[in-house]
Amino acid sequence: MRRLWPVPALLACIVVPWLPGLPIFWVSLLNTIGIATIVATGIVVLTGIGGMTSFGQAAFLGFGAYTSALLTTQWGWSPWLTLPFAVAAAGVSALAIGAITLRLSGHYLALGTIAWAVSLYYLAGNLDALGRNDGISGIPPLQVAGVKLIDTRYSCVVIWVALVGVVVATLNLLDSRWGRAIRALRGGAVAAASFGVNTARARMLAFVYAAMLAGLAGWLYAHLQRAVNPTPFGLVAGIQYLLMAVVGGAAFVPGALLGASLVTLVNDRLQDWLPKLLGASGNFEVIVFGVLLILVLQVAPEGLWPLLRRTGSKALHRHDAAPLPKRAHPAPGSTVLNVAGLRKNFGGLVAVADLSFAVSAGEIVGLIGPNGAGKSTSFNLLTGVAAPSAGTVSFAVRDITGATPQAIAALGVARSFQHVKLVASMSVIENVAIGAHLRGSASPLSGVLRLDRAEEARLFAEAARQLAHVGLSNMADRPATSLALGQQRIVEIARALCLDPTLLLLDEPAAGLRHNEKQELAALLSRLRAEGMAILLVEHDMDFVMALADRLVVMDFGTRIAEGKPEAVRRDPAVIAAYLGTDLEETA
Ligand code: ADP
Ligand code: MG
Repeated sequence: MRRLWPVPALLACIVVPWLPGLPIFWVSLLNTIGIATIVATGIVVLTGIGGMTSFGQAAFLGFGAYTSALLTTQWGWSPWLTLPFAVAAAGVSALAIGAITLRLSGHYLALGTIAWAVSLYYLAGNLDALGRNDGISGIPPLQVAGVKLIDTRYSCVVIWVALVGVVVATLNLLDSRWGRAIRALRGGAVAAASFGVNTARARMLAFVYAAMLAGLAGWLYAHLQRAVNPTPFGLVAGIQYLLMAVVGGAAFVPGALLGASLVTLVNDRLQDWLPKLLGASGNFEVIVFGVLLILVLQVAPEGLWPLLRRTGSKALHRHDAAPLPKRAHPAPGSTVLNVAGLRKNFGGLVAVADLSFAVSAGEIVGLIGPNGAGKSTSFNLLTGVAAPSAGTVSFAVRDITGATPQAIAALGVARSFQHVKLVASMSVIENVAIGAHLRGSASPLSGVLRLDRAEEARLFAEAARQLAHVGLSNMADRPATSLALGQQRIVEIARALCLDPTLLLLDEPAAGLRHNEKQELAALLSRLRAEGMAILLVEHDMDFVMALADRLVVMDFGTRIAEGKPEAVRRDPAVIAAYLGTDLEETA
């Protein structure tokens, strides 16, 4: 039923504006709300979900509106013909602006958006070609079959039909391979990159998508108002659009409608009441909105939508689709990973010094050592999360020293994290499906158009298979962070297996597991070894790692102090000294 809502929604779009007794004033408000919701939906994707705050979305309405205004008034184009150009103008300008600003993070990005919103505003106000501050008037209305859609009710139908399309497209995008990449940006970017997600591209995608929605809104605005000037595309408007998304619930698509409605209605009333109340005219509503924003953030930091929404996780499609193609794995016994002279300095601290070891297919190597020995740092060097200061890492026979996490993942290196990195807003199976990102190829556009369903079914079938592999099938639809921490580590293993890895790097997978869960994990890892996988295991539980590993590499203060079979390492004096003279069996 979820997917059938657009049908009644479209009917309502056609019927509601013509309801007898509906004042034309309300139809106008509906138009404003509809246009604002389109913009706010883009902000939901960009800010609420992608984590990039933009105060400048109104400027992209400007790109859409002015493009259509120029093409229709100067060149005599028909309004419909200008639509793709208006949307493309917003998208292309977002590509250019994004190439410069998206490298900034956090508050700096937000400040950057303010800077270009202000510059574009003054640019538009000073360009003769754009009519300076007076703007462009005489924009023709939309026409259908020779009938000019001048009546506000016609505009209302067009705007709300467009909005339904936007919401469907946005939900489709978020429920696709690239949508998961965007949803992983907030909090999960390092993990997503480790599974081959091009996070810079995902950021750009969210930015351009939001701008294109704003461009569409600008096009609608231009033909509704039949005139454009810089004011509605300035910074104040940008702040209001952001406010709408935040008030409604910036991480939720329906929140955009809620927020846009509330802010538009309140704005309309305030413009009426405040001057009467205060006995002077002025933009007092801006102050009220500031207070409102702070109140909402205090009372409901996630916005109002989550308060209205019924809780409960969404049922995911998991068909028995055809298995994904597998990569060619090296023969058991051949060297998969070779680390030579690896070094990492953090300022004066040498976290890893001259570390060398190798791992073969069908072998489990344990990397052990006291806290702070440099194990996790070594993992980050092997997976491209950090660049080594010296030394080489080769995978199969290829030199991967300093390669990006995406490139290393693409070769078949998958990992889990000591500090679990799952995307909190996603279900378990969606998190696991991120591991299969590189095994799909659907583009964002095919996601929006829902042409990716066959591939999605295969990705989710693989995710379901790997969840079954690690024994967590019954958790598939739970929110990822509702699981116990130990189980979240196992989810990370399922995600790693979705990559179809040749080399699996596990950072303390047994931490937080109960005794029988550890036994199940050991059985799983033995099974994977028997299938020919190379596994590098960092683990503090000595019983666990001694029983499982074929070889151990012991680190202390960044250097390798011992290497060999578990029985030999256990008796090595240097190792015993590193563990403060305690017997290894007691340090579990
Ligand atoms: P382990 O995983 O073996 O417990 P780590 O690799 O996490 O050890 O840390 C090794 C050393 O490097 C520690 O002294 C730690 O404080 C330091 N270290 C790790 N990451 C960083 C970093 N990003 N910046 C500075 N020092 C770091
Ligand atoms: Mg560690």
